[in-house]
This record gives sequence, C-alpha cells and structure tokens, in this order.
Amino acid sequence: MLVFKFGGASVKDAQGVINLGKVISNYRNEQLLVVVSAMGKTTNALEKLTRAYFDGNGDVHNVFEEIKEYHYQILHELFGDHHPVFDEVANNFVEIDWMIEDEPHDDYDFIYDQIVSIGELVSTRIVNAWFNHQNFSSKWIDVRGYIHTDNTYREGVVDWDKTCISIKKDIPALLSKSIVVTQGFLGGTSENFTTTLGREGSDYTASIFASCLGAESVTTWKDVPGILNADPKLFADTVKFEELSYQEAIEMTYYGASVIHPKTIKPLQNANIPLLVKPFMEPTAAGTIIKEGAVNKFKKPVIIVKNNQVLISISAVDYSFISESHLSEIFAAFAKHQVKVNMMQTSALSFSACIDHIPERFERLLSTLKQKFKVKYNNDLKLITLRHYTDVALQDVTAGQSVLVKQTSRNTAQVVVK
Ligand code: ASP
Ligand code: MG
Repeated sequence: MLVFKFGGASVKDAQGVINLGKVISNYRNEQLLVVVSAMGKTTNALEKLTRAYFDGNGDVHNVFEEIKEYHYQILHELFGDHHPVFDEVANNFVEIDWMIEDEPHDDYDFIYDQIVSIGELVSTRIVNAWFNHQNFSSKWIDVRGYIHTDNTYREGVVDWDKTCISIKKDIPALLSKSIVVTQGFLGGTSENFTTTLGREGSDYTASIFASCLGAESVTTWKDVPGILNADPKLFADTVKFEELSYQEAIEMTYYGASVIHPKTIKPLQNANIPLLVKPFMEPTAAGTIIKEGAVNKFKKPVIIVKNNQVLISISAVDYSFISESHLSEIFAAFAKHQVKVNMMQTSALSFSACIDHIPERFERLLSTLKQKFKVKYNNDLKLITLRHYTDVALQDVTAGQSVLVKQTSRNTAQVVVK
C-alpha cells in the first residue's frame, strides 16, 4: 500500500488536477491513499481572509470572492457546467459565509483553523470527483475523524494512539476497494472542532497514515526534481540528491529546508518506511529517496534560507549577568507563546535568539518578556544555514550583506544577515 501526497503547486489549476489523474494511472494495481493540500496559494488567501475578518476590515468579501472564483473556474474547466461536486464545494464555502456573518470569536488561532481548513476540504472534493470522472474508483474521507489532535489550534498535537486506532479500523477495508482521497494539514479535536498541524503540514499527514498503516512507502510529488542542495529559485547550479539518510533529512528540515515538513520524517524512520520526493511533471523519474542505509553524498553544501526572521536580544534590567534563572524564565516565555528558537547565543549580559516573525505570537512574547527584562529586536532578517559548509560557500552566501550573528560547528554554519 502506497501513500501519495500532492501539494498545492501540483493542483494549482485544472491542468494540475488532470495531471494527478495521469500520475495515479501508473499505479493501477496498487492500493493508494492520496493526501492533498489546498489548491495553489489558497492557504495564503484564506489566511488573508481570516486576518481581514478578525481585524474587521472590509476586504473579507473581496478576498472570499476571489477564492471562490478561482475554484469555480477550475471546476468549470474540469466538469463543464453541471456536476454533483459543485454542490459539495458550495457546502464547504457556505461555512465561511456563516462564520463571517458573526462577530469573530476572540481566539484568533481557533478561527484561523475553522476557516483555513476549507482549502483542503474543497481541493480534495475536486480531486476525488476528478478521479471518479476518470473511472478510477475513489472515495473521499474527512480526515478530521481520523487524525485526532488536542486543541492547540494552528499546531495541533496528534494523539497517536487514538489516531492509529481510527485509521486501522476503517482505512484498510476502504483501500481494498478504491483509492482513498483525504485532506492534508487538518485534524479534529474530541469536541469536533477543526485543527491544523502547522503550515505545510500535509507531508506530516501522509507520514501519519503511512506509519499507522505500515505503508510500503510515502511519495511526496513536487514541482522540483527531488531534494536539492538549495532552493533553485534562490541559487543557480543546484544539485539533486539521489538518496539521503533519515538523519540528514531530519537535520535539513530542522534548519528550515521547506521541501519537507519537519515532523514528517521521524515517524517514517521509526517504522522504516522510505520517503520518496518526486517531480509530478515527470512521474517516472527517480527523484530522491530517503531511507535506511542511504549513503549521503555532498557534492555541494546544503543551503537553507529562512526569511522573515527577528533577532531578539534580552538582558536583565539591572545589567546583571545573564544567569541560569534568567534563562529559565526566558525559555518559559518562549514556550508559553509557542515561539520556536531557530538559533541562539548567550553572552555575559544578553541572550539573543533568532525566531520566525509571527506577529501575534511575537507581540505576546514581547509583552511577557518586557515585564522582567530589557528587550531589543531587529526584524526583516534572513537566517542562512549551511550544512557541510566550506569557507568559500559561507563567504558567497553572505556577500554584500551585513552579518549580525555567525555561529559555526564542525558541520553546520549559521548566519543571521540583513
Ligand atoms: N495547505 C497548507 C499550507 O499551504 C498545508 C500544506 O500545503 O501542506 O500550508
Ligand atoms: Mg501548500
């Protein structure tokens, strides 16, 4: 049994959906579970809608109209003017209409998940309908009844025991009869509210299903030939890895390589399930395989760029040394506001950390820290990580930029630049 994951770029238009049908037609004799993300940039658009609704500014309806238009255009290209899937999609969109008629609930993360999740509900309806239209037998399932999480909205923590029980109970029987199509990125709480697993979380969804079902492999279908040493949109002359160890892949995602969601690999490693990264436009190409016993060959350093970083510097109000008890208070504040530290450094009088700029969380973190500490920060920065770096490569990536912090170990170099 195989698990496939198709990201937003693979279903950004009608041609994309048609191409998915072609990809799966190469696997007619396999049992397939297909995880799909929201179409194109829909998640970003729904984030914008949620923001506008929460802040009470007039954009909400325009943004929503654009999202609907975009999906209906794809539907018309695929199915003409009439097909039962039109009603299914309309039923999903109407949930947003109902929500935005009311005053927003005061928990932004909660509203976010209830609204943003519609992207995946709609995309999977469309893909499932297309598969059936192409005479594959395909069944749509609502992932929120299978992936059970706590109520940490926007970062749902998966209850693995409960999740695996639900998945094992129903899915094998369904797979023996048809393809199963489901939503990436979403989960459900015990009170039947929707959660999301963190941006780009659909890979993680695929990994959860594969691990609970003991799949032969997971394939994530991408718009790149496989895993490259750097983002080809930012760097010329990238090289592709034929294979990578789980360990190296975990390191890469930890530092922010966006090709795979960081939580994806560990469950696969534990169950010894290979992860393939393949180009959806060339389905028979080898791509990259992450597996047990892979030999890592680094012809060039791996370069990972994280944009939109803040460097925050924290010191004691009385200018005393940064002590262990200060650090423990500082870390408690980071944990409380779910702010992940991408890089950190301590000196005699201050502690600095490089973090993603997520405005709501950052504001809350600042107000907690300011009760006890002096806080300074610098935003709009970039964190560049080089694995298996050389001094030349490090000079190259920082050329013409000012370096605020630099940290090197034997294998890894990190620089915060402006
Ligand atoms: N649609 C979600 C996102 O864009 C999840 C995913 O693509 O994996 O973050
Ligand atoms: Mg996506």
